[in-house]
Amino acid sequence: MYLELKRVDPEVYKAVVGEIKRQAFTLEMIASENFVSRAVLETAGSPLTNKYAEGLPGKRYYGGCQFVDIVENLVRERAKQIFGAEHVNAQPHSGTQANIAAYLALLDIGDRILGMNLSHGGHLSHGHPVNFSGKYFEVHQYGVDRESETIDFDELLKIAKKVKPKMIICGASAYPREIDFERFREVADEVGAYLLSDIAHIAGLVAVGLHKSPVPYSHVVTTTTHKTLRGPRAGLILCTEEHAKAIDKSVFPGNQGGPLMHIIAAKAVCLKEVMTDEFKKYQKQIVANAKELAKKLSEKGLRLVSGGTDNHLMLVDLRDAGITGKVAEEALEEAGITVNKNTIPFDPEKPFIASGIRIGTPALTTRGMKEKEMDTIADMIARVVHSPDDEKIKKQVLDEVHDLCMRFPLYKEFLDEAGVKGPYDEPVI
Ligand SMILES: *Cc1c(COP(=O)(O)O)cnc(C)c1O
Repeated sequence: MYLELKRVDPEVYKAVVGEIKRQAFTLEMIASENFVSRAVLETAGSPLTNKYAEGLPGKRYYGGCQFVDIVENLVRERAKQIFGAEHVNAQPHSGTQANIAAYLALLDIGDRILGMNLSHGGHLSHGHPVNFSGKYFEVHQYGVDRESETIDFDELLKIAKKVKPKMIICGASAYPREIDFERFREVADEVGAYLLSDIAHIAGLVAVGLHKSPVPYSHVVTTTTHKTLRGPRAGLILCTEEHAKAIDKSVFPGNQGGPLMHIIAAKAVCLKEVMTDEFKKYQKQIVANAKELAKKLSEKGLRLVSGGTDNHLMLVDLRDAGITGKVAEEALEEAGITVNKNTIPFDPEKPFIASGIRIGTPALTTRGMKEKEMDTIADMIARVVHSPDDEKIKKQVLDEVHDLCMRFPLYKEFLDEAGVKGPYDEPVI
């Protein structure tokens, strides 16, 4: 697959093989990551990358769009069918780009928005001061209840009535519980606000009915395609017919130039996979794995925010274990387990240190791991987190991680071609 790359640019080739090797021989538990299929990879690497196609299918500003029109129409039709949406824009380059386009379609600069506090699970693009969303709009925030650590709808309603936002944003990056979109819509209606639901993390669950759909309750729904949906790194916008024109114009020419047609084609392939029975089984296994992992981590004395999970991720509060998220992330990485440090609600630590880690099961479930492996992994995580400075334990866990990874191979054909059979082999140049 990468023979020409190897000839032209050995430095990049080595980094590419190094990254494939890292993915194959570590346990990827970052909740927002996944491994795409060979078909998605091939499409994302196709010559469709060469094509300029500003505009929409049938209405382009460039000639020669007959084939890229086919793939973009497939994304729109498939996404409409999967999510029951009236309208789809297939072009956002990412989740954040989808949000920019959606905000600027429905809002004016300076309008008030109400989003979830980042340290309670929200996303930077929902109004954080360092992000465009915090700079262009007047941002107000809601969060979770201190006791239950679930979204506090009484507080949400109180804040909404006081600040009268033009848009309420729901959806999260680090929230382990089901999101009640219907209640969000009730609050939005009560104060005359638009509801934007960002399902970047849970889109795969929503697609197969394992999480309630936001589509009937939202003016606009945004998502990424590379998290639980397991497609290329990109975004999508779903909306009602009423807002279709405004959304399309906001994506292009409002906020983007030429669409990435190779990535849009890969989104079409991803959505084809989403419509299969295998994908539904896969999503069920993600949730079953998360439940099992959460149960075992709790049994090992690790406290989970809100007490558990309904979806594909969990947040571990490490304060009782006596270490910070930053230290846990680093120790686990040395042991071959990749997670990210994450603030917990009402975190006393700064985001760069954080009191928690976020753990997700989508990527390992793609490799075929099930409940039994989750038990093993919970044990590994607990051992490292309880002795983050013990080099012997970290080395033991690393060896066990390598064994597990060898039993659930990933992108093996690429590694074979590069002469990499195990975690300590270097690619042959
Ligand atoms: C990941 C995520 C995004 C942003 O996606 P990018 O593709 O990284 O820009 C937006 N919203 C939520 C809730 C997310 O979790």
